[in-house]
Amino acid sequence: NNILDVAGITKTYNAGKPNAVTVLQGASLSVQPGEVVALVAPSGAGKSTLLHIAGLLDSPDEGTVTINGTDMTNLSDRKRTAVRRSEVGFIYQFHHLLPEFTALENIVLPQLANGIDEAAATDHAKNLLARVGVETRAEHRPAALSGGEQQRVAFCRALANNPSLLLADEPTGNLDPDTSDRVFDALMELVRGTGLSAVIATHNLDLAARMDRTVRMDAGTLTQI
Ligand code: ADP
Ligand code: ADP
Repeated sequence: NNILDVAGITKTYNAGKPNAVTVLQGASLSVQPGEVVALVAPSGAGKSTLLHIAGLLDSPDEGTVTINGTDMTNLSDRKRTAVRRSEVGFIYQFHHLLPEFTALENIVLPQLANGIDEAAATDHAKNLLARVGVETRAEHRPAALSGGEQQRVAFCRALANNPSLLLADEPTGNLDPDTSDRVFDALMELVRGTGLSAVIATHNLDLAARMDRTVRMDAGTLTQI
């Protein structure tokens, strides 16, 4: 059973208007358990659109998204949201942590929203922070952390509810090259250590080479290389 099957996805923004733009035309992608897939594409090619559709944050015009064997196409919004919260972790180029909460709280809160009790949520959050080397930063707010530390905390938050699928959109794209390499190491260790499946978009071919395989986006479709 695949963790993710994206099949025949079509997406046009502003359909029927003069400024219509077709971003995806029959895009398909499958991810097996434990597989880490690099998504490489020029900017503007539709990577973010594809990741948002795969992660149930946006809907395709045509095609299906199947997560862990469940076809999401005809699920109610409420059920889709529930699946997204428990099965999918998202990481962006910018951390998007809540500024008024500490690093620890940013990882505890999504677990509380998912019905985990506070003691267990706190243990799990501390464990995640230690695994990416920022346990000493637990009580700091995001503004007090370096860019690399902010991303490490964002990785922990994405994994807070033990998702089966991680989707990352240029997760180290706003860091300088040295920091990017180290932070990417931490992400890969976390992903490999949990056996998580992931799709990680990157412009960096050296980072792509460290994943299991690379999929290239071209003219709205995906080609395995
Ligand atoms: P990438 O992540 O590869 O840079 P995106 O998926 O963000 O690409 O965008 C692909 C194309 O779709 C771009 O031309 C972008 O301008 C356009 N686009 C993205 N989102 C919207 C939107 N909400 N409305 C209209 N056009 C959009
Ligand atoms: P980097 O070069 O990795 O981006 P910085 O120079 O931003 O790191 O920060 C170095 C260290 O100082 C980091 O461990 C960070 O957590 C800490 N730090 C940065 N800004 C603040 C701040 N406003 N308050 C407390 N600690 C901070």
